[in-house]
Amino acid sequence: MARRWGPYTNMKSVLAQEPFVIDHAEGVYVYDEKGHRYLDAHAGLWLVNVGYGRQEIIEAMHTQAQKLAWFSSFGGIANRPSLDLAEYLVERLSPDGMVAVFFSNDGSEAVETALKLSRQYWKIRGRGTKTKFIGREKSYHGVTLGALSVAGISANRTAFEPLLADVRHTAAPDVFHCPHHPGDSFCTGGCIRELERLIGFENPDTIAAMILEPIQAAGGVIIPPPDYVRQVADLCRRHDILLIADEVVTGFGRLGDWTGSRHYGIRPDMMTFAKGITSGYMPLGATAVTREIWETFRQVPGDGPEFRHGNTYSGHPVACAAALANLAIIEREQLWLQAREIGPYLRKKLQEAENTWPQYLSEAGAEGLLGRIRIQGGTDAVEPGYWGLQVQAEMRRRGVIVRVAGDVVTFSPPLIVTADHIDVIISTLVDSVAAIFAP
Ligand code: PLP
Repeated sequence: MARRWGPYTNMKSVLAQEPFVIDHAEGVYVYDEKGHRYLDAHAGLWLVNVGYGRQEIIEAMHTQAQKLAWFSSFGGIANRPSLDLAEYLVERLSPDGMVAVFFSNDGSEAVETALKLSRQYWKIRGRGTKTKFIGREKSYHGVTLGALSVAGISANRTAFEPLLADVRHTAAPDVFHCPHHPGDSFCTGGCIRELERLIGFENPDTIAAMILEPIQAAGGVIIPPPDYVRQVADLCRRHDILLIADEVVTGFGRLGDWTGSRHYGIRPDMMTFAKGITSGYMPLGATAVTREIWETFRQVPGDGPEFRHGNTYSGHPVACAAALANLAIIEREQLWLQAREIGPYLRKKLQEAENTWPQYLSEAGAEGLLGRIRIQGGTDAVEPGYWGLQVQAEMRRRGVIVRVAGDVVTFSPPLIVTADHIDVIISTLVDSVAAIFAP
């Protein structure tokens, strides 16, 4: 019997079934070991932006691995792909105000890096009382204890509590479930007022940073009202609180721009990246910072390592080579334009699906190529909270892979998706709902 312990996996139920083994992939399709084809409507886990099987990324990795598979980046040593990637990113992220990049292995580590940078930044500037972090309810920032502490999906946290003590959480706007005026479908700014109150109550002199996903992805693709992200950025700026934009999902094209921050018109103090930076061809995380942060660390007197933080694989040459090849594809094919063009079509089709089965589907929405719809059952056969999983399983049986957040089905297809693919995804959703709830 297999002994692989899977991530976020209920091993008891998985071991009771035959394993679902993905064998190979091409374009927007993945194939299991039996040769069944699935349209991947989730780009794996929100990340295979350029699609599967891109030979130029594979060749770039191969060439780099033959030349130098790895060497340490500690203490002043570098490898060429990491230098080139840093330069490339800083150039592309200059409209966001970023001037330097710290590499790690994944999104959790990129967030961890940002949190630690924030604390040390204020210490260097002689404001060591600024240590707290503000996170938001329903947010996802990763699994390491720091990243988990600022995250806000309760189910992920409970088993590991107590988490970092100096973290406060604030509500995030949700047009379908307003935390302040349940039932209202328009936003009157309650979350901004709550955040302002929280900052005042805690005292800005005790707060190091606030972290926010431009769109909460894993929480169920919760799309904020148009002005909200900018208002958060304004509040942070006004109170000298560093703003960390977690761009792990929204970076590199998904919302129709290089970053979600640019999409919403903000310039944060730090940005965290992973996932789409390599489209998953290699693991890589990156934390980008503004000139103010970079210069603050550069000016530390003495010759010790100023930021005592780093991973064995920081700036891994094969991962950086994969990122450079991946980003070159995104740029050459202008894949962010896909999110602008196909994203509205995804939204329209989700809305049509809702109109087809209003008794079973609600809360359709999409921004760029991030979409969502709520399953609301309508039968006693399955418990609420499991409707989403039912639909996910039925869609997979019919050849389409999606993810769920409770009863919300989420969509995040590769950026190379076409309108025809969207038609297949949505008709499979509609047929699956009909098969389960209205047989
Ligand atoms: N931040 C966000 C917004 C994410 O969605 C994720 C993962 O889904 C992470 C951070 C953590 O990334 P990783 O799983 O690579 O550690």
